[in-house]
Amino acid sequence: MDKIQNKILSWFAENQRDLPWRKTYDPYHVWISEVMLQQTQMERGVAYFKRWVKRFPDIGSVADGKEDEILKLWEGLGYYSRAHNIAKTAKILLKEYGANLPEDYQALLGLPGIGKYTAGAIMSLAFNQDYPIVDANVERLFARLFYIDSPIKGKSAQKKVWSKAKELIPAGQARQFNQALMELGALVCKPKRPMCRVCPIDSFCKADLENAADQLPVLAKGKSSIRIEMVTGVLVHDSKIFIQKRPANGVWANLWEFPGGRIEQGETPEQALVREYCEETEFEVGNLQKIAVVKHTYTIHNITLHGFYCQLHSSNPRPVLHAAQDYQWVIQERVKDFAFPAGHRKLIEIIGF
Ligand code: SF4
Repeated sequence: MDKIQNKILSWFAENQRDLPWRKTYDPYHVWISEVMLQQTQMERGVAYFKRWVKRFPDIGSVADGKEDEILKLWEGLGYYSRAHNIAKTAKILLKEYGANLPEDYQALLGLPGIGKYTAGAIMSLAFNQDYPIVDANVERLFARLFYIDSPIKGKSAQKKVWSKAKELIPAGQARQFNQALMELGALVCKPKRPMCRVCPIDSFCKADLENAADQLPVLAKGKSSIRIEMVTGVLVHDSKIFIQKRPANGVWANLWEFPGGRIEQGETPEQALVREYCEETEFEVGNLQKIAVVKHTYTIHNITLHGFYCQLHSSNPRPVLHAAQDYQWVIQERVKDFAFPAGHRKLIEIIGF
């Protein structure tokens, strides 16, 4: 056992990437980086992390931060509930823990958005306590190393993976060891073409021995994706742009958007836009002019978004909001100050606001 741990630790000492939160292992930095890196590639996560800590250098500043600003800094990372939970947790930490993260696994689990993985990451990486963590890299590494051939997200495989992750931690070295496992999975035991010939633990690896690394881990069949056609309109009136703030619950909560919605069967994108504007704001719009068609994905949805400019035909520029909690008429230079969902952001980039 010692041998495999030593090999993993020595490999990490020589090969670890230089990441900003690895300089001090400040608990706040560990927390933010771990939440950001869920569903996000490392390079992108690092850029967002640097921008975040520059604006919010500590927990107190997040707790005092405005939601619109927090969402703007998160814009593009998706899964916005993570940003909402960071804001909620920061407020609790300020009130109950003196703006610090508690060195207590159970207390961490009680905070919004902090589950088994994030609590384990904070306990081990920030406080160097012997708690395991398992991300997708560790799942893959262990599925191969221990030849786990049941679906990796299934109960039995998860139980095995988490118990191995706990069992393997060399006492007092969880910080280095947990990171070493994740790093080895990310850099060597890659999803496609694992680099077994340079792997420091190839002599322990059951999948390599069986020449079966490519067949593991076993993934559950993915849900088939759903295609959706949507439309949105950038309404221009008196040199200002109309934007509305989405409801506080549901998809893209509290983000800003241009009104629009799904194109119903038998409708053209233009007809759908006029209808959606009327339903959402009671505005009559016309003079539609195509901007672009952009594609983006949201969970299992493949969205095709038809973007138009449009003009106000109603005499009153005050909307009656039916699908939003707030609205603003903003000058075009200010549009980029607000956080928008991915498809709308792509349109904003194309327009060049
Ligand atoms: Fe992964 Fe290959 Fe190393 Fe096994 S030998 S852990 S499959 S990289």
